[in-house]
Amino acid sequence: MEGLVLQTLSSAIIPDLKINSERLRADFEELAQFGASPGGGINRLALSPEDLQARSWFANRIEEAGLEVNDDDAGNLGGVLPSPDENARTLLLGSHLDSVPEGGRFDGSVGVLAGLECLRVIQEAGVELPVHLEAIDFTDDEGCWRSLFGSRALTGRLTPEDVNDAGSDNAPFRAALTRAGIIPREVFNAQRPSDTLAGYLEVHIEQGSRLERANTEIGVVTGIVGRTTYDLVFQGQAGHSGTTDMYRRKDALRGASQFIVRAHDLVRERYGDGVFNCGNIAVKPGAFNIIPSEAHLTFEFRHVNEGLMAEMERALISAARESAAANGLTVSTEVVAQMPAVSMSGKVIQTVEQACDDLGLNHMRLVSYSGHDAQMLSLYTPSAMIFIPSADGISHNPREFTRWEDVVNGANVLLRTALRLALKS
Ligand SMILES: [Zn+2]
Repeated sequence: MEGLVLQTLSSAIIPDLKINSERLRADFEELAQFGASPGGGINRLALSPEDLQARSWFANRIEEAGLEVNDDDAGNLGGVLPSPDENARTLLLGSHLDSVPEGGRFDGSVGVLAGLECLRVIQEAGVELPVHLEAIDFTDDEGCWRSLFGSRALTGRLTPEDVNDAGSDNAPFRAALTRAGIIPREVFNAQRPSDTLAGYLEVHIEQGSRLERANTEIGVVTGIVGRTTYDLVFQGQAGHSGTTDMYRRKDALRGASQFIVRAHDLVRERYGDGVFNCGNIAVKPGAFNIIPSEAHLTFEFRHVNEGLMAEMERALISAARESAAANGLTVSTEVVAQMPAVSMSGKVIQTVEQACDDLGLNHMRLVSYSGHDAQMLSLYTPSAMIFIPSADGISHNPREFTRWEDVVNGANVLLRTALRLALKS
């Protein structure tokens, strides 16, 4: 009984605000014009003219709403609703305006626009918060140049190798940054001290079909999978395809093929929540009548548990060595990219769930199998992600679609969560 009274009291202090669906929709339709492709998709690659147009449109929307524009040295672009308390921390609500080639209209855009809409609603209602609220677009989430560039900059995870030319060919990237008015040597200034942040919230389409299949309105993300990418080169010996004895061949492609099949089986059998993909292979000399001397492939694997990531890595590399040995080959292995698995904040997850309950929306917890800016932010400040259903799970595709009522639900959960976090921090 006492618990019930307390609960009623604490929810009574959260103002009962809702986002303006028509205004959000008008923004969404306008934004979708930047980089619109004939097939109904979006080509808004990071730092492209279309991306820069979308960003200046977003800056105008921020100013029109009477909010402050905050653009940092890594090109991250935010709109700020300041707290009366100048020394307050900032609660970030964000995602990204860039897209993959022939991407969809919802990926990233929904999160940035929902953030802006939350700020407008709170400002119009005259609600003063003990935190600054900032709706933010992060530069190059999709990795046209550098995956999660803006969110890595803000959280201090950029290295000189990401932008400098010494030792690597960053010239085209540096030129793209410069064209966008971003000075490569100054991108490190975008880091914000973590004690100036109150947290991070991101609404995003699920890009899978778990919510739709479970007939669930909101997904509450508990963690984002880690991802490791490897380059493997199997080396054998070229030879005449007709005259070489079948049992004396050192066929690099045979070894590589065995590895790929073993890797799939191993991940299915031993790591039920993990995934593996090998999507490219190049064979030398590459003629139908010559035994392959070299097979060069790239594979990636993902899992939400860091301990199991390490275990999968050992198992996959030993499968590669065994497949090489069984075929008289050598194999070289090199890590080319690594993103850690991360957990969202337990406290913020619970707040999102309370917000869903307040709004009468059903919800489920799930893991994200795709990378997001929240991956970087969650290592730095208490973070959570709010997923909304993707029709048929289709994404990174012009056919990407989310029902408008689901977008509105996601934006309202974002608003309610932000208010709950702000008024209790
Ligand atoms: Zn995205």
